[in-house]
Amino acid sequence: MTLENAKNTIRQAAGKLNLPEETINILLTPEKETKVDFSVKMDDGTTKTFTGYRIQHNSLLGPYKGGIRYHPEVDLDEVSALAMWMTIKTATVDLPLGGGKGGVICNPKELSETELENLTRAFTRKIAPIIGPHKDIPAPDVYTNSKIMDIIVDEYSKIKNLPIEEAKAVVTGKSLENGGSLGRDTATARGGQFVLKQAIEQTQIIPTLKEATVAIQGSGNVGGNFAKLIAKDGAKVIAISDSKTAIHNPDGLDIEKILEHKKQTGSFSNTPDSTQITNQQLLELECNILVPAALANQITEKNANNIKAKIILELANGPTTPEADKILEGKNKLILPDILTNAGGVTVSYYEWCQNIHKEKWTAEEVDEKLKEKMQKATKEILNKKEKYKTSTRIAAYINAIERLAKKV
Ligand code: NAD
Repeated sequence: MTLENAKNTIRQAAGKLNLPEETINILLTPEKETKVDFSVKMDDGTTKTFTGYRIQHNSLLGPYKGGIRYHPEVDLDEVSALAMWMTIKTATVDLPLGGGKGGVICNPKELSETELENLTRAFTRKIAPIIGPHKDIPAPDVYTNSKIMDIIVDEYSKIKNLPIEEAKAVVTGKSLENGGSLGRDTATARGGQFVLKQAIEQTQIIPTLKEATVAIQGSGNVGGNFAKLIAKDGAKVIAISDSKTAIHNPDGLDIEKILEHKKQTGSFSNTPDSTQITNQQLLELECNILVPAALANQITEKNANNIKAKIILELANGPTTPEADKILEGKNKLILPDILTNAGGVTVSYYEWCQNIHKEKWTAEEVDEKLKEKMQKATKEILNKKEKYKTSTRIAAYINAIERLAKKV
């Protein structure tokens, strides 16, 4: 995601709404950018200085919300783009939250558990004055996880002299034992499933999900869980992949079996009842629904003309480049955009925060039911706006979000 792409999409959507320049500027400008340098004690007794960021993009609808990533290539522009994107994403699905993002420039693969913990505590001390359950609520992102969120809560409670119970709502994505929510692990895939079902019902582009043929790029948390869910709905998953191998069976793969094979052997090679293809071939397969659920920039101007699926469900962030978007729109494909389709994760993060604030524990069924309602409503609204404004589903999703934000300016 580049800052320019994100800004262009916001400008296009704002243009459809004839918003004044001043309102557009508010949407494009972060409210606060924080850069911190901090020292971390390393295992060999030395100290090392690290740099981190927290971008608080917009709080018109509620406290800032967005992940913290640990990566050697974290840079201010990208974190800013992602923070802006979170503002749109939370508004797209009507959450009372704003947008933020953070990151620390580091290579977690080169840090020991203790060094990672020291780094997390030191970063938390630096950003403690600007985060808080009603101010800014971070979450896991690239190379951060529930363990790191639990450490942030612990450090935050010490700094603020709060009982742990009172500090929990400062982050989401915690472990279940420390205030995490049931259903968070499958929330993104589930959210995508609800969006897809609603879109099929509303547009009738294909008659039903039952018997629909689906190709899924990626089989991690999002792609793997999504494959299991729609296979249960009766869809035929005809292809799936990891970073090295894609496998194909036009009659449908036995998802539980092949994911078990991958778990046992560590790869999709030699999966029974399938042929091996490349990730590129997977994208171009004859199928009804294509689900990029791995990396950004997979569908480009080079392969967009070869995409045969009628529906593209973007579970990954930014899998379609703007050039490819134009080609696919020109061919009347229904692109269900990432900003809506993978918002199930942040939605269940919001439910985690609600449970922490109200000292409640919801069942997996309750979480699921609430998620379904949220995702269906947002999809309905966006498809209606697509018709009303005669535009792409992506711009319609941005319009849906920006209308909400503009009302608060
Ligand atoms: P993951 O790390 O669990 O899985 C990633 C998958 O992508 C793996 O199957 C991996 O083998 C595959 N992959 C890696 N490199 C590839 C390549 N070059 N070609 C094809 N496949 C490749 O990650 P995830 O949590 O499933 O996230 C997948 C996507 O969804 C990312 O774009 C992420 O930003 C987005 N997303 C995830 C969440 C969430 O809650 N996990 C929420 C919103 C968006």
